[in-house]
Amino acid sequence: MHTAPKHILQQLNLAGFEAYFVGGCVRDTLLSRPVHDWDITTSATPEEVMQVFPHTVPTGIQHGTVTVVEDGKNYEVTTFRTDGEYLDSRHPQNVQFVRSLREDLSRRDFTINAMAMDSEGNLTDLFGGQEDLRAKIIRPVGDGETRFREDALRMLRAFRFSAQLDFTIEPKAVNAVKKLHPLCKALSVERVRDEVEKTLLAFPKTVAQMADLGLLMVARMEQGRDLSFLHDTPTRKDVRWAGLFYAYPHLSWQDFRLDKRTGQTACETAHLLGQDYDAIAYKGIFAQYGEDVGFCLADLQHKRPMVEEFIRRGDGIYLRDLAVSGADFPHLQGRELGETLNRLLRHVHAHPQDNRKERLYEIYRQNL
Ligand code: ATP
Ligand code: MG
Repeated sequence: MHTAPKHILQQLNLAGFEAYFVGGCVRDTLLSRPVHDWDITTSATPEEVMQVFPHTVPTGIQHGTVTVVEDGKNYEVTTFRTDGEYLDSRHPQNVQFVRSLREDLSRRDFTINAMAMDSEGNLTDLFGGQEDLRAKIIRPVGDGETRFREDALRMLRAFRFSAQLDFTIEPKAVNAVKKLHPLCKALSVERVRDEVEKTLLAFPKTVAQMADLGLLMVARMEQGRDLSFLHDTPTRKDVRWAGLFYAYPHLSWQDFRLDKRTGQTACETAHLLGQDYDAIAYKGIFAQYGEDVGFCLADLQHKRPMVEEFIRRGDGIYLRDLAVSGADFPHLQGRELGETLNRLLRHVHAHPQDNRKERLYEIYRQNL
């Protein structure tokens, strides 16, 4: 176990509180997968946590979460809690702090996510999480139907974890999903997007499967589309979203509230994806849409080597690469100038060796 995060547990213990690693970091440690954040659960209240550590940020006080900053790293420390009543399949009505680890673990979604580990590496596994890790099963803590009714996002999370870990969802839980999928319509777009994105990055076909089961109606994703062509593409957000927009063409990046750069790149790439392009056409795409779209398309079409080759050669691609500029055509203005330079750029795309001032001027005069 890593020493820096362990130190956080030990300091809470020294102050007289229980403290454990919990959830994803325990699961991933047991699976020998890289851990990206060390979530900690403790008997200390948020105020008590803030007294123990010099650098804290009250990031989610109403949920009992305080971020502890140590050695420039952030650790989310959350007080043992239950979620109280769920009224609408998405928000717990009131969060209640509790004093026992057991209650905290029992509110968690799946057995593999409901284990805790203390500073000495001792595991608390009350729901058969280790066994399910060995059997590669995603199983809800308690009755799946009840847990999915409380929070419909758990249905999406089941598929997301099955994609990330290559696990099977317990058949009873799949049946519950088949029955309760309409509850997902009430979920916020942002929560759905985050699960879709994680699934897209892990195993894209699962997203189509989720759509087929009616879990993605909130994003208007219909049934019967194929995303398997994404499986041998780089694990990048723009690439994977572009594939999704290609397979579900009536969707736009705004439907998922993606950030503008990823969203625009993905949508523009999706529009270009239906055709094959040679190197000359690719240069035109780089010039017109920019390099984000150019590389994204090249990655989806497995044309990266071809693109890197013309970049490495230093072929003229953009207007700024042309050996002539507006100043070389003082008699032209506005649209006429723009068209002339673009015509010359297209010529250079096909004949990189002609990118010299006299030669371009000659071509310009020939075409007058
Ligand atoms: P990741 O590796 O993607 O971060 P994770 O297991 O850490 O996976 P998070 O979404 O970060 O998942 O949540 C942390 C923990 O909180 C989970 O492991 C689980 O115990 C609990 N949890 C998160 N969301 C829910 C939910 N909707 N219902 C019940 N428990 C949840
Ligand atoms: Mg996490």
